[in-house]
Amino acid sequence: MRLLGIDHMDTVARQKSRLMRVAMTASGIFVHMMVCWVILSLEYMNLTPVQFLGLVSVAAIGFLAFVLAIMLEWNLSFEDPDMALPQMLWASSVVIMTAFFTVDLTPVVVFSGVALIVAGANRLSRLELLAFVFYSITLYGVSIFFKAPFDSVSWINEIVSFLAFGFVLFIGPQLYRFEVGMIEDVLLDRNKALSEALRRIEDLATRDELTGVYNRRYLADILARQKALADRQDYRFSLAYVDLDFFKRVNDRFGHATGDTVLRGFADIAVKILREVDCVARIGGEEFVLVLGGTPRQDAVIAARRIGEELREMQVSGIEPAYRITASIGISEYRKGEEVGELMERADRALYDAKHTGRNQIIIAD
Ligand code: GH3
Ligand code: MG
Ligand code: MG
Repeated sequence: MRLLGIDHMDTVARQKSRLMRVAMTASGIFVHMMVCWVILSLEYMNLTPVQFLGLVSVAAIGFLAFVLAIMLEWNLSFEDPDMALPQMLWASSVVIMTAFFTVDLTPVVVFSGVALIVAGANRLSRLELLAFVFYSITLYGVSIFFKAPFDSVSWINEIVSFLAFGFVLFIGPQLYRFEVGMIEDVLLDRNKALSEALRRIEDLATRDELTGVYNRRYLADILARQKALADRQDYRFSLAYVDLDFFKRVNDRFGHATGDTVLRGFADIAVKILREVDCVARIGGEEFVLVLGGTPRQDAVIAARRIGEELREMQVSGIEPAYRITASIGISEYRKGEEVGELMERADRALYDAKHTGRNQIIIAD
């Protein structure tokens, strides 16, 4: 259902942008018609104003047909729902029609139209572009021969216009595409840098800088989500509150930098042993909270024990091999309906008990 919804939204947005494109092409042609209107008033067109307005209406009807096709969603069943090629063919036909009725000033009319077409033709695929150019120069070439009155046609004018028309039509969109391509490359680079920066900001906001595990803020999010899950369905999760033992001594004896390495080492062990869905967070100097999703307390104890064992085995450069780093751990399992704060507090109390009854041990709350 949800996916369908998103799909539909996407279609709506695309149809909207298709309408915008039709409007852009149509307004290009409208501007071209204004140029033609000037030429008509200078009497370089074989049309009466009424006939000219008829021509404008024909052009408009063509574009309205595209609008209608999009509004009724007919275009969705077409091979190319954008209808890029048909639109360009229509735009080109309109320009050629206006050129057909022009006397002497054909180049002006042709290039007014071509300038507008070139930008739109950028949307065509290579094959479509070829078809488009072929269609346009054929239609234009044929139209020259039907120009009336035949003997008054300025041939040199028409042939030069024709050649230039074909040339610009073919080269223009490619140049345009090249330019757009370069801009796209720049944008792509920018986008990449931006995503990278975003990722970095996200990391800074959710991760602890020293160890790379999550920070207190992210832990709160995770716990809220776990609580929501557990309140709604048959789901259990546990929390382990970890505090390294006599950590001040580690610092005093081996230096603060070595202490940092120990913290990183513990974080690595916890991440390695816990599952992907679990969460390791550092919430203070040498205090960590582990969230074990879908895990009752007796299973959390097993995981905590393994972490404790690996910690005791851990070798850190700068610390003599026989020196053992240990941790005290308090574990609490979420009780339906309780606040996250209570869950933390129960684990903290268990940790306190672990500290005061000898350290290097795991105690389950209550
Ligand atoms: P206990 O067994 O009772 O937990 O003793 P402890 O020494 O571990 O506890 P205490 O809270 O007295 O000392 C914690 C020490 O952790 C003090 C502080 O210097 C050290 N610490 C806090 N943050 C960092 C840090 O980022 N890096 C290093 N290297 N040490 C830290
Ligand atoms: Mg502490
Ligand atoms: Mg400690």
